Amino acid sequence: MLGHQAGQGLRQTARALGGPCTVCRQWGLDAVCASCLQLHAKPRPRCRRCAEPLAIEGLCAECTADPPPFLRTHVAVDYGFPWDRLIADLKFGGATELARPLAAMLAHGLTHDCVSLVVPVPLAPRRLRERGFNQAALLAGHAADLLQLPPAATLLQRPVERERQSGLTREARLRNLRGVFMVDPAQRQRLAGRHVALVDDVVTTGATAREAAAELLRAGAAQVELWAVARTA
Ligand SMILES: [Zn+2]
Ligand SMILES: [Zn+2]
Repeated sequence: MLGHQAGQGLRQTARALGGPCTVCRQWGLDAVCASCLQLHAKPRPRCRRCAEPLAIEGLCAECTADPPPFLRTHVAVDYGFPWDRLIADLKFGGATELARPLAAMLAHGLTHDCVSLVVPVPLAPRRLRERGFNQAALLAGHAADLLQLPPAATLLQRPVERERQSGLTREARLRNLRGVFMVDPAQRQRLAGRHVALVDDVVTTGATAREAAAELLRAGAAQVELWAVARTA
């Protein structure tokens, strides 16, 4: 087995040699090339709290009426071409090598000065058994590494199996999720007074993030914000 130093040296050499862009396959130094980012990842005005696309930056109607427990949401892109394919390849195709470039997109231009802990949204137990890995945990690990923040991969847990979320109304989703997340009692002291970044691959209704953030706050976190690669419109 390679020592840490040697492994790091090899990775640096490989990066210096470059590789094909994950989207357009053009050879370059970055996993996603600058022209693909420019073309497919243009920043747009969003709701400050939940990142829903808006005509002008501000607060969406839902966050005004029923503010989420998280302070703000940062997403890199809308869930659509070509990112939907990359995320699907990561989740369902086992292409775990895509986690780092996607985490790099997430971390790009992100202000994270106040964040002191990076926590992935845990996967439902059955899904984790089927897939063998949690894509949010991979993304959180790489984002923490790129931003030099401490990761807490197993702090938030999801011990309870529930009905699938897809196909349920927003109210039903929220009801279905109540109590599914639990902060590991043995790691609870790591949370005290922390500003936590909660990481997921895709934000859809925000129901999962609301419930996960609420549990982190109940367990002692000072603030929670949400980071995701993509958001459905
Ligand atoms: Zn490209
Ligand atoms: Zn909102």
